[in-house]
Amino acid sequence: MALGRPVRFQLLVPPQVASSRVISNPNHQKESNNYMQHTFRALGVSADVEQALADRGIVEPFRIQTLVLPDAIGGRDVLAKSPTGSGKTLAFGIPLVERAPVDGKTPAALVLVPTRELALQVTEDIEPLAAARGIRVATAYGGTPVASQAKRVKGAHILVATPGRLQDLIERRLVSLDGVRTLVLDEADRMLDMGFKPQVERIMRRLPSARQTMLFSATLDGEVGDLAQAYTDAPARFENGREQDVEDGIVLHEFVPVTAEDKVDRLVEMLRADPGLSIVFVRTKRGADRLVQKLTRRDVSAVAMHGDLSQPQRERALERFRSGKVTTLVATDVAARGLDLEAIAHVINFDPPEDDKGYVHRVGRTGRAGASGRGSTLVLPEQQAEVSRVAARLGHGEQFANAGMTVARPKLVYSSRRGRRSKW
Ligand code: ADP
Ligand code: MG
Repeated sequence: MALGRPVRFQLLVPPQVASSRVISNPNHQKESNNYMQHTFRALGVSADVEQALADRGIVEPFRIQTLVLPDAIGGRDVLAKSPTGSGKTLAFGIPLVERAPVDGKTPAALVLVPTRELALQVTEDIEPLAAARGIRVATAYGGTPVASQAKRVKGAHILVATPGRLQDLIERRLVSLDGVRTLVLDEADRMLDMGFKPQVERIMRRLPSARQTMLFSATLDGEVGDLAQAYTDAPARFENGREQDVEDGIVLHEFVPVTAEDKVDRLVEMLRADPGLSIVFVRTKRGADRLVQKLTRRDVSAVAMHGDLSQPQRERALERFRSGKVTTLVATDVAARGLDLEAIAHVINFDPPEDDKGYVHRVGRTGRAGASGRGSTLVLPEQQAEVSRVAARLGHGEQFANAGMTVARPKLVYSSRRGRRSKW
């Protein structure tokens, strides 16, 4: 990495923890994790599905999967809290496929997700397993014509949907939920954050009450807890903390002082120094477009991802990025929500995040599934005080100071009654 100024890094997860999943001595694994079972078969997964997983290189269950699968396959209600990238999709996707009846009313299972990107991602993860058992999966999300979607939804055993579009389909009588025997709420916290509570509740009222309900979320507190309480029955509860999250790789955090004049050049240096996929976060949609233009002029190919793009445009941009044709994605926070992108080597905050949570969400997109990653924040002189507080609160104060910037004195953080933090 050819960065101009010396920057020091912090290891969030010690390397020996990060790599412990690849230890090949089975006795050693038994000792360190004696409650762990190390094959999908041992957790109740069928041979067909296990083979379909193996075809995709998935042979050993992640921790949340080890915890959830036996109960979920057994038909029990489940509440699961686990960080991003820890493998939640298969923790519910496998049971859905195992439990879906090949005949009877359709859809038999419903997965609610907050965004269309997530809907597509979840469908993509479940489809190969479903195919192995002759089960069909359909996706319903906004921004594309209803009619063609409705056609595919009819007759699908598993329906993955965003609340808004599903509501629409129900009202037009294009789908009936009478046959739903399993419901999954994926990213329940985000669903509520995004204001989908009324739609979710309306949909819930349409579902048969004799059903299995599984809720996956980054938190089970507050409103998510209320939702869980209201709609699940004697659920098994699993919490997979960050500490034992061996799937996570090492993330390096750096803060780079820049000026308005050299900011784009510094970004270009970083992008050139890192051949992997990078997400560059900006504050506004126009800012995203402008930055893509500036990068293009400097011969760095980049695509923008923001709320003003049409669905086909978004998909095209994502496809180019995922396939590595373009290695830089310039995104706004909102547009990046629900983008489940793997193998992000570098997250760069071109504009600083809104707050601590924003930082964690953005930089949490790298270092997934055991890979290492890097989070870089460009800091203008007038942003130093604010960013230093975020850095300090998240335990990166030393990285900030090492970049030669002054750490501001701590400022009181005000909490609202609902416990939400004020901006900085
Ligand atoms: P989450 O929903 O918890 O954020 P995902 O379900 O999207 O996480 O999984 C993150 C990544 O890990 C995906 O690329 C997924 O294919 C991969 N993955 C999930 N389970 C396994 C496993 N048991 N072995 C290897 N890779 C896995
Ligand atoms: Mg997920």
